[in-house]
Amino acid sequence: MRYIDFRSDTVTIPTEEMRKAMAEAVVGDDVYGDDPTVIELETLAADLMGKEAAMFVPSGTMGNQLAIMTHTRRGDEIIVEESCHIVEHEVGAVAVLSGVNLRTVKGINSILQPKDVEAAIREEDIHHPETTLICMENALSNGRVVPLENMQQIYHIAKKHNIAVHLDGARIFNAAAYLNVEAKDIAAYTDTVMFCLSKGLCAPIGSMVAGSKSFISKAKKNRKLIGGGMRQSGILAAAGLIALKDMTKRLHIDHENAKYLADKLSELPGVKVDKDSIHINMVFFTIDNLKMSDAEFIDKLYEKGIKANGAYRGVLRFVTNNDVARKDIDYAMDCINVLL
Ligand SMILES: *Cc1c(COP(=O)(O)O)cnc(C)c1O
Repeated sequence: MRYIDFRSDTVTIPTEEMRKAMAEAVVGDDVYGDDPTVIELETLAADLMGKEAAMFVPSGTMGNQLAIMTHTRRGDEIIVEESCHIVEHEVGAVAVLSGVNLRTVKGINSILQPKDVEAAIREEDIHHPETTLICMENALSNGRVVPLENMQQIYHIAKKHNIAVHLDGARIFNAAAYLNVEAKDIAAYTDTVMFCLSKGLCAPIGSMVAGSKSFISKAKKNRKLIGGGMRQSGILAAAGLIALKDMTKRLHIDHENAKYLADKLSELPGVKVDKDSIHINMVFFTIDNLKMSDAEFIDKLYEKGIKANGAYRGVLRFVTNNDVARKDIDYAMDCINVLL
């Protein structure tokens, strides 16, 4: 049975072109640095981010963690928004791997405010840890995109205080599509950036970290340290190249489909859609007076061939992606309507 999968954009399966490119990829041994397909991917990734170099890693979490590990020393403090992926979804890895202190700041709609970031930077004092890194996120996990001016202001504050800036840009190409800019225009306000190939871009595995040449060579050593050195990874990089060359160009379709989904959902009785938050491919909504529990609702959808995650704090999230077409959305709306 084919399922329509609204759980995330991580569920996208590799395209036919990707599978073919993977089968035919020329490979070497990337720990020796001679896998030509990995080199091509890293060169392209660096170029797209406007950075000197890039590194291929198996996951976004590993990419963020290696960036933090490479930017900091144990006991340093890093400034993050309190609901960001590094805080919420990376298993507390910063404590285990880098031994840094997290200084969480509450943003507006999870967007860090420059004045609050500046206030959180530590002054030199015998009692204080040293602030050495600020991490931003764009696009945000709440579906919103951070305006460039906001990033620019925070970057300037960081530079004034001689602090590095890392961007968790897991969905940087979604942010770029929304802002109608190139990814490098966003990455310009960062020292390093991580982005994922395995979300809406359909690659099966992989993320990239981009930064200066010296940063990436240090980060590669740290990657080896945590067991992330890979061998014939050109097999995976071949899919990543298609993700970057072709799949970035179609993200606007997912964004348009998210708006279409939101319009359809809001016509249903009791359904309230948070339309202001729809910048990319995520639609957040609640259902009033649902006749069944959230869990039963999700089960009933599953029986109809629709996969969705359960509500988080009462809010449901549907994510559009390459494997969800408009007719799938129409079908899902009919199914939901019957359950209300
Ligand atoms: C998905 C995601 C990551 C990385 O996740 P992995 O599952 O480890 O690849 C990092 N940051 C954000 C904001 C994400 O959405």
